[in-house]
Amino acid sequence: MRKGVAVSPGIAVGTAYCANKLFLPPASPSAGEVDIQAELSRYEAARWRAEEDLIAIQQKAEQQLSPSDAAIFDVHRAILCDASLIDRVHEGIIRHEMTAQGALHHSLEVYSEAFSKFNDSYLRERLTDIRDVIQRVERHLQNDSVEADEVLLANPVILVVDELLPSQVVGIDALKVRGIVTRCGSETSHAAIVARGLGIPAVSGIEDILEVVKTGDHLVVDGREGLVIIDPDAEAQAAYLKLEREFFDFKDHLVENRDLPAETADGVSIELLANVNSVSDAEAAGAMGATGIGLFRTEYLYLTHPTVPGEEEQVQLYIDVIKAAPDHRVTIRSIDLGGDKTLPFLNRRHRESNPFMGWRSIRLCFEHPNFLQPQLRAVMRAAAVARELGGDVRLMFPMITTLEEIIEVKRVVREAQAQLDAEQKPYARVPLGMMLEVPAAAISIDLMLEEVDFVSIGSNDLVQYLMAADRDNPKVAHLCQPLAPPVLQILKNVIRACLDAGKPVTLCGEMAGHTMSYAVLLGMGLRSFSMSPALIPYIKEFARHLSIATAESIAQQVLTLRTIREVRTYLADELARLVPDFEKFKIS
Ligand code: PEP
Ligand code: MG
Repeated sequence: MRKGVAVSPGIAVGTAYCANKLFLPPASPSAGEVDIQAELSRYEAARWRAEEDLIAIQQKAEQQLSPSDAAIFDVHRAILCDASLIDRVHEGIIRHEMTAQGALHHSLEVYSEAFSKFNDSYLRERLTDIRDVIQRVERHLQNDSVEADEVLLANPVILVVDELLPSQVVGIDALKVRGIVTRCGSETSHAAIVARGLGIPAVSGIEDILEVVKTGDHLVVDGREGLVIIDPDAEAQAAYLKLEREFFDFKDHLVENRDLPAETADGVSIELLANVNSVSDAEAAGAMGATGIGLFRTEYLYLTHPTVPGEEEQVQLYIDVIKAAPDHRVTIRSIDLGGDKTLPFLNRRHRESNPFMGWRSIRLCFEHPNFLQPQLRAVMRAAAVARELGGDVRLMFPMITTLEEIIEVKRVVREAQAQLDAEQKPYARVPLGMMLEVPAAAISIDLMLEEVDFVSIGSNDLVQYLMAADRDNPKVAHLCQPLAPPVLQILKNVIRACLDAGKPVTLCGEMAGHTMSYAVLLGMGLRSFSMSPALIPYIKEFARHLSIATAESIAQQVLTLRTIREVRTYLADELARLVPDFEKFKIS
């Protein structure tokens, strides 16, 4: 058995098909005497054929996937036509007398080097898209049929690959590929997003998978727990086959539930909101049954931008997200840069040895004149449009640590409003909230509540700061646990304080989409949960099985337990007893 990262839920049982050779890049061509004009023409012809492919793949994707998932291939076409990539290849051919293929390969190496410096996994994954496009053009240069590598297999298999590129996932017929296991990749990779969209269970990040599995081996892929079982015995195989069948029925059932209201077993309404990074995520949120966007991570606009994006550009982006969002309800978070998200144009004067505890988030915004003011103005201007649409925009600030920071943020907001008044630009005042992700702020929550309109608990950071365990370091993953008793105590206190003060409270960390945590949080009085869009159907279904009274008694009991193991064991047993299908939609 191997443990990896669960990237697409569900169970698949089948025969392994190790496709590492199928997807290997072509051999690196050497530079040499070349006919420059001929190489330029070959490159143009290959690019043109690659674009034709992408148009065809996109049409196929639009039939198989949601429009937002299919939009990945818009990105691929944009990469294909990207002026800097074309210039780089031309330069390789003209100045360095490389073949078209050599120049393309060299460009890929340059991008790989540049992207490897990003700490942010979302950005690192974007290199996969560039590689996908470059390999497509390379194959046309070699006159290979690109279609041939899109898996056309006779029998349903579990695909085992080094890395799966997004266009390859779409080439896979969902009926012929039951499950996917990859050595590379993470929850945020596009291939993972597409696999989730197609409903193919997938597990990523198993280092030695291609060494321990060969074509023909029996495999079980457990995309809920991130497990791969190699050559299971007859009993395990039968048990998992049953689970696989149930998973298919269950998925059909989840689709039917999408338009039902989100409520508990005793009919109490809950809010299931989506965490998004972009307009296409906002569209996906609606398709998954979210009732609004609980966290819009605006820093991704900055991370994918060559300079600081201007106010007008921001207004347009926020309007696009508001228009795409369910009920036009969006909680926008001011940029949360620093930590693992650094920018080339940020011009840091010194390297920080502790970036997560350093100059990040609101701390950085206060000092960077280009950040806070234009963003506040853009959000308030976009909020006026949301209001016309009958929607609702809220603005929240990450990593608030002290009361002074909230007071300062509010001063800057007033300043922005005065400017907009003076310029006679239409805008709307928006509720101002804080993200509760620093233990110091949790301890002084009562004071903080006097100054903010709402609270959103960022449990990903809160847990790492509380447990002094880096959220991205697998060595301390056993400590960075949202179900640790001290974390639960703090969460209980914060939720209680917000409810007593009559201030709306949401939790937008990953734990909101995990069934065990959901049960405890519901029992502590939380009614608003914001999560990855793909998890919303699961939590909506799970919620319908659990009443408030039951959740309250679970939370009470959990708060008496002493260790993480005790908490997890109790919840697993109790929920399996209470919710007959618990195993099926357990995410973590
Ligand atoms: C969090 O910290 O829980 C959160 C939602 O913010 P991010 O994951 O973007 O840091
Ligand atoms: Mg955070």
